[in-house]
Amino acid sequence: MQFSLCLLPGDGIGPEIVEQAVLVLHAVGKKYGHTFTTTSALIGGAAIDAEGVPLPDATVAACKEADAVLLGAVGGPKWDTIDPAIRPEKGLLGIRKALGLFANLRPAKLFPQLKNACRLHPDVVRDGLDVLVVRELTGGAYFGEPRGQEVRNGERFGFNTMVYSESEIRRIAKIGFETAQKRNKRLCSVDKANVLDVSQLWREIVIDESKNYPDVELSHLYVDNAAMQLVQNPGQFDVIVTENLFGDILSDEAAVITGSIGMLPSSSMGDGTLALYEPIHGSAPDIADQDKANPLATILSIAMMLRFSFALEEEAAAVENAVSAVLDAGYRTGDIMESGKTLIGCREMGQKVVEQI
Ligand code: NAD
Repeated sequence: MQFSLCLLPGDGIGPEIVEQAVLVLHAVGKKYGHTFTTTSALIGGAAIDAEGVPLPDATVAACKEADAVLLGAVGGPKWDTIDPAIRPEKGLLGIRKALGLFANLRPAKLFPQLKNACRLHPDVVRDGLDVLVVRELTGGAYFGEPRGQEVRNGERFGFNTMVYSESEIRRIAKIGFETAQKRNKRLCSVDKANVLDVSQLWREIVIDESKNYPDVELSHLYVDNAAMQLVQNPGQFDVIVTENLFGDILSDEAAVITGSIGMLPSSSMGDGTLALYEPIHGSAPDIADQDKANPLATILSIAMMLRFSFALEEEAAAVENAVSAVLDAGYRTGDIMESGKTLIGCREMGQKVVEQI
């Protein structure tokens, strides 16, 4: 089969890690008889330098023509003092919006080989940790109206509105159920239905939608309890679905527990088939251009792309197994290094994964 990718390498370590991920993709193509064609486009600081804006129209057009988008990372100190309206991060928000990506999927997995990096007591993660947070990305308090600041009776007020329509809840719930179907068929919906009206609607709609997915076991947690359960007993979770603000916090919490930011992929998807894949970390300017970056989060983003965009489950598993085998063989980049292991750079790590495939 043939698939086209739009690459958005971005800034800092972005180009280095994307280069390795693409080499891995081509190795998959060679082994399984697929062709992956790629085009590159500008985003973030690189786009500001070349075109004066963080998201040129040509980049949006190139993404829309592709079957999937792979992003490195954006931002860096060079652009920290420019006009906030055209900061590199605006490119990231802009592309999600332009492509209508309303669901963010972030798996937080503790590789057994990296269990020493985990922040939790070994007893707590005895059963492992493999949670996927599905976060609603374009609604809730971050976008709701009215919002702003005003003076009321001589005192300043700040306010935002956490608002969701039934259709917004239904479409993210569907993604939650469908994602759970591809994993261990357990979905935990996180809300604050004991206090918030918007959460009461959320819960009603999620329960209603569950009728279409009888094979998925649905549970509910209040967000405060979910935050506690993630550190007390993370093994109980398979897929968590939640609204934008709760998901922002819980997905970071789940990620940091693993202790390995350089290992975690993500994907953002919408109604159509086009999705964007990226590592969860930033552009790591402190190690850029030194061949020190860990490319595995980006390589694992390729595995997500193969599974979710191209329905190539065997190929996705091949990438994940290759990463696991390289870790088993003791190879580590600096961020996941521990004594007794072999320190290698970004390029060599990519090469090792290619060899395993
Ligand atoms: P960061 O994730 O870039 O780096 C945090 C720390 O983790 C650094 O010490 C870095 O060296 C290390 N690190 C991150 N990824 C790594 C990898 N793959 N291999 C090895 N080490 C890695 O976060 P930050 O320092 O807060 O932000 C740096 C820049 O990235 C900022 O301009 C920020 O706005 C931007 N940023 C972009 C994204 C994105 O593009 N999605 C996300 C977060 C931050």
